[in-house]
Amino acid sequence: MTPLQTRLIRQIQEEGPLSLDRYMQLCLTDPEDGYYTTKQAIGRQGDFVTAPEISQLFGEMLGIWLVDLWQKMACPRPFHLIEAGPGRGTLMADILRCFLKLVPDGKNFLHLHLIEKSPVLKKKQKEILASFNLPIKWHSAFFAPKKDSFILVANEFLDALPIKQFQFQEGRWHEKMIGLSETEELIIGLAPTRNNDALFEVLSTSKLPPPKEGDIFEVCAQARHFISTLCKTMKLTKSASIFIDYGHLKGAYGDTFQAITNHKFANPLTTAGEADLTAHVDFAPLIAIAKEKGIHNFATTQGDFLIKMGILERAGRLGASLSSQKQQEIRKDVERLAHEDHMGSLFKVMALTSNKVFPHGFS
Ligand code: SAH
Repeated sequence: MTPLQTRLIRQIQEEGPLSLDRYMQLCLTDPEDGYYTTKQAIGRQGDFVTAPEISQLFGEMLGIWLVDLWQKMACPRPFHLIEAGPGRGTLMADILRCFLKLVPDGKNFLHLHLIEKSPVLKKKQKEILASFNLPIKWHSAFFAPKKDSFILVANEFLDALPIKQFQFQEGRWHEKMIGLSETEELIIGLAPTRNNDALFEVLSTSKLPPPKEGDIFEVCAQARHFISTLCKTMKLTKSASIFIDYGHLKGAYGDTFQAITNHKFANPLTTAGEADLTAHVDFAPLIAIAKEKGIHNFATTQGDFLIKMGILERAGRLGASLSSQKQQEIRKDVERLAHEDHMGSLFKVMALTSNKVFPHGFS
């Protein structure tokens, strides 16, 4: 039994069942026992590997994307580069290396902001980014400047935000809750129906077909709130953002809540605080929010984006002077990132811009 599991069982005994989003939030970011708060989760030695941890090519493609867009925005200075959920800081380091190579005087006008809740990862980010000698500010919740231009980047950030799940049963939607079994173990159950106005509003704008018995509908209020606040702030200046995550561009019913530990699926109820909990990102409502706020949006698959950004050509150049074994490794990494059998089609890329510019990498 994990320490957090013991505490949550006690809490449920005293206060009743927890909603799934509350459970997910506590498992991931509880100040004492949360997964991100206490663990070095990411990387080959951690529990899961993300795109920037697979290859520097991923960050380089985003670096080139950023420079191109910054130029299309008429090279604003000062310029703020924000990353939400920067993990070990690898992606930001790769982006910066690329940005400063293409725009050497960037050091004079770049400001970095990292939105991060985990003290363990913050320490890692500090170490990795120290050599760039740029001003860095950390924020534990959403931040974007109101007077200066910015670009916000987020890879596998939205999937870590807690979701609620509703199941359609006997003609009604019921919220999934975490409660206790007769033997006092954590179990998932359905709450009795209540009038949930927020749910009905979300459902009515989601353009999904009428539900069938057993269908599951997921809502990520924090992702919606994040995009809504971001779009409002983006409207104030020439700004942009890019989100990469696994999920779907068109809404669908289904259960995508999952726990991962040591690169394998785990039981989310017996690993509280010790496994990564995520859900696929439903980009459809996020795109709808952007549209409603008057923000331009672009979306495609990760594979399509990386190929359009020139990952194959860059991989060829990177490998040109290396051994055939190294070339083989680079080929494998590119395949993992861009091929549809790996991350290429499951992962999606969504870009948002406040002014009429056409970002590279989208058709
Ligand atoms: N972008 C990185 C890490 C992805 S893991 C990469 O691609 O490797 C998710 C990241 O989001 C971690 O840095 C985690 O600590 C952070 N995170 C999770 N929930 C958060 C929240 N609610 N607020 C801020 N950061 C959060």
